[in-house]
Amino acid sequence: MMPIVPVYTGRFAPSPSGPLHFGSLIAATSSYLQAKSQQGKWLLRIEDIDSPRTVAGAASSIMQTLEQFGLFWDGPVIYQSQRLARYQDIFQQLKQQDLIYGCDCSRKQISEQGGIYLGHCANRQLAANQDKQSRLAWRLRSTVNTNFYDLVFGQQQISQKLANEDYIIKRRDGLFSYQLVVVVDDWDQGITEVIRGADLIDMTPRQQALFKLLGAASPNYGHIPVAVTAPGIKLSKQNHATDIRHWSSSDALAKVLQFLGHPVPLELKAAPVTDLLNWAIPQWQLAKVSRQYEILQTEFN
Ligand code: GLU
Ligand code: ZN
Repeated sequence: MMPIVPVYTGRFAPSPSGPLHFGSLIAATSSYLQAKSQQGKWLLRIEDIDSPRTVAGAASSIMQTLEQFGLFWDGPVIYQSQRLARYQDIFQQLKQQDLIYGCDCSRKQISEQGGIYLGHCANRQLAANQDKQSRLAWRLRSTVNTNFYDLVFGQQQISQKLANEDYIIKRRDGLFSYQLVVVVDDWDQGITEVIRGADLIDMTPRQQALFKLLGAASPNYGHIPVAVTAPGIKLSKQNHATDIRHWSSSDALAKVLQFLGHPVPLELKAAPVTDLLNWAIPQWQLAKVSRQYEILQTEFN
């Protein structure tokens, strides 16, 4: 029998906290091109788990903008807000396996200890007290490696301190954390490769460790430089200069492709977005993407 090789499956996973801007268009376009250059599938997931930060109408505005740029996704859109029962199952499983524990430490206490959680509650058995259970955050006993391989940046290392941190998988306010749901979703959607912004690169070993705990195969990860307005300042959804709705779609997409190390030939500059994408798909190589964590957005204005 022939071994079954899974179809390349990538994804774009925006948080609907505002309209799609230049920074998120970079993440969308790079993951799209990486998938399409390998005849793969490109899925869309709306990361609306953090309900207090979710803005009404943002998800549909993001989808409209993706379509305007010719970035058509495959299959149905997944919404995290509709998957709470699945997350709860995984949470119960981790709890039964004693892989997580309740924690009542305040943000202030943790920042007084240097900002990294040192496992204060690891053996306190706080969850044994039923009355207290609802007011606890839940942390995963870390099994995170310091080393990992990134498809763009190569061999990477995080600090031992960060690797050892028992991170939150369910927040004190009862919401499941990004760290938990991103892994469950990537697993359930059969994602074989994650291409996303470099602001999340240090989270990769946490996600890989959680895949392993769940007995699932981890996808490969590649990170794309982040557009910043000044060193350390990511583009914000409120920044009008980078609101792509003020640019023509062709202009904005040409800027994104230039940012990604694939400058569009002069004769294609004003071409419709589908022509730009059709040009870019066979050209696309992650190796052409810059290995800087941040690139100043002013270079693309
Ligand atoms: N929802 C996250 C964001 O918009 C992306 C998560 C991911 O790609 O893993 O920043
Ligand atoms: Zn604690």
